[in-house]
Amino acid sequence: MFSKILIANRGEIACRIIRTARRMGIATVAVHSDADAGALFVREADEAVRIGPAPVGESYLRGDRIVEAALATGAQAIHPGYGFLSENPGFVDLVTAAGLVFIGPSAASIRAMGLKDAAKELMEKAGVPIVPGYHGAGQALVLLAGKAREIGYPVLIKARAGGGGKGMRRVEHPDGFADALASAKREAKAAFGDEAVLIEKYVEKPRHIEVQVFGDNFGNAVHLFERDCSAQRRHQKVIEEAPAPGMTAEMRAAMTDAAVTAAKAIGYSGAGTIEFIVDASEGLRPDRFWFMEMNTRLQVEHPVTEMVTGVDLVEWQLRVAAGEKLPLSQDEIRLSGHAFEARIYAEDPTRDFLPAIGTLHHLKFPASGAEGSSIRIETGVRQGDAISPFYDPMIAKLVVHAGDRASALDALVDALESTEVAGSTVNTAFLAALARDPDFSAGDVDTGLIARRQAALTAIAQPSPASVAAAALAASGASLLKTGADPWDALAGYAHWSPVRRTVTLAYGESETIAAVHAKAGRLLVEIDGAERSVPPASRVAVWPGHVTVFEGSVAHSFKVPDPFADAADAGGGAGSLRAPMPGLVKVVRASAGEHVSKGQALLVLEAMKMEHTISAPHDGEVAEIVAEGQQVTDGAVLVRFVET
Ligand code: ADP
Ligand code: ADP
Ligand code: MG
Repeated sequence: MFSKILIANRGEIACRIIRTARRMGIATVAVHSDADAGALFVREADEAVRIGPAPVGESYLRGDRIVEAALATGAQAIHPGYGFLSENPGFVDLVTAAGLVFIGPSAASIRAMGLKDAAKELMEKAGVPIVPGYHGAGQALVLLAGKAREIGYPVLIKARAGGGGKGMRRVEHPDGFADALASAKREAKAAFGDEAVLIEKYVEKPRHIEVQVFGDNFGNAVHLFERDCSAQRRHQKVIEEAPAPGMTAEMRAAMTDAAVTAAKAIGYSGAGTIEFIVDASEGLRPDRFWFMEMNTRLQVEHPVTEMVTGVDLVEWQLRVAAGEKLPLSQDEIRLSGHAFEARIYAEDPTRDFLPAIGTLHHLKFPASGAEGSSIRIETGVRQGDAISPFYDPMIAKLVVHAGDRASALDALVDALESTEVAGSTVNTAFLAALARDPDFSAGDVDTGLIARRQAALTAIAQPSPASVAAAALAASGASLLKTGADPWDALAGYAHWSPVRRTVTLAYGESETIAAVHAKAGRLLVEIDGAERSVPPASRVAVWPGHVTVFEGSVAHSFKVPDPFADAADAGGGAGSLRAPMPGLVKVVRASAGEHVSKGQALLVLEAMKMEHTISAPHDGEVAEIVAEGQQVTDGAVLVRFVET
């Protein structure tokens, strides 16, 4: 076994790998960008090496610097995690040429599965069912449009180099084909530097069911059952589970056989996932699943498999890479209970899941699961850390396990309700709403579920009167507090100033509440609109610069507490301007100065965090000024200025 490994990744997955390495007595080396110098994974590793500035192209994608760091620190092997260089065969070549071990499959296996078109061809030859469609070399618009018609609408245009749901467009009708193709190609070019696409039949009532496979260097390959990842937004997974709801013995046998056949066809070694798309319009049928792609790495959602099999997949990766045989045979791998993983992201579900940034001024995860369940938090951040625009906005993965699906789902909801994040917008309320959705609860999932229910799943209830009162009370003491301090402790001395009456203003969305806080007979009371309200002692509140957040179930209600002194300085920003919600690149500009636009009209497309975001007019008006195409903008930069009316 290795005595020291380097982890060529960051965040939660770097922390995850360090944990197993430490348990196995293996020393770890972290590599990091400037933005991550103080990150948790850097702290947890035995050694750390700086590899460059924040942008990934200058740090986490610099294979040369990473290999240098491994040689300099005496690491014998490199674990790539997921994303970044994990599926880059050129990096594997670089690692092996330096005499180091790549903890993952061979460069040849990655190449075979790297492009979706070539992978489909290969799988078809191996006898694995593939999604009907076109995956040829010709890329002319007329050819592709003709193929789409032959395949039959709806179709799915996919970047052959795609990943993470990027470069993918569903097209309903021939009229929309050319535009969708151009947009898919643009996104693919930006994200992968390769604009070639394939076209697939859009499967009806699609379910995403994938099989975890594992191979070693002795020709053995096993599966570790399936995961269902049908709960998706923007083709990206949100809640994953194992096993798949409604799975039958017959369907499982067919899918796991196909997966092991696929792995064996390329002599696969290490952890891999075979992703299948399933037509569930008539339940799970062995003749209705098709190979989509293979991910030749550890998957983000690997913990659900670990929870139901008891296998540590990172340990297996290390053993196999070090030349050991697979620790268990197929018969020895058993399925037990049910597990869910929910991805907690800094994003705003009410704004079409727009990624968010911010400082996690308050961060609290549940310590343990309810009786009969267990809980596992995978995170790479601590309270006080920032979610920066440079990397994936994932804050944590909440993983729960229980004896059956219903209990595991209850445990997931409980865990989401006791998670507290303030300082950035988060999707916890959305995740809890999804977990409680009647169809999701019944196991009747498909990849369109979230989009169909988007309005209901992202609707946020108004804060209760008790929450408003709790916010007012905390805000009235806020000036006495330091961020992160317990507001109730700091308020303890408040009652001594009995005659004091403080007025606070709380802004929630568009509405403002003025509350008065005073002490009466040793108790603190909040008065809003002339009515006295008491604050429930169990209120969960976090105070952070300029804000108070009250946690009500899985919902984090954040109130702005305007600072009367800061307001004047801010006024110049202008209500008549539209600002960038995050740093990004102005990809397309659809309006010009002097133009009258109406509320909701698309004004420009901002590319940020490798996704395209359409920025629309917040109200009717006339454009006075608009940014230029190709311009790089910072967070809060003015994109559009409207003529003052
Ligand atoms: P998976 O297929 O493993 O579930 P996703 O589809 O959610 O992964 O994400 C797709 C890809 O996005 C990942 O393989 C990885 O390339 C990238 N990605 C997601 N999160 C991160 C992260 N925290 N760091 C680096 N890359 C990431
Ligand atoms: P990526 O590399 O981005 O993960 P995939 O090919 O794995 O791309 O597809 C991502 C998601 O898109 C799938 O999980 C599924 O929800 C949806 N999808 C892909 N292909 C099809 C298809 N042919 N029909 C319906 N949905 C599909
Ligand atoms: Mg995929």
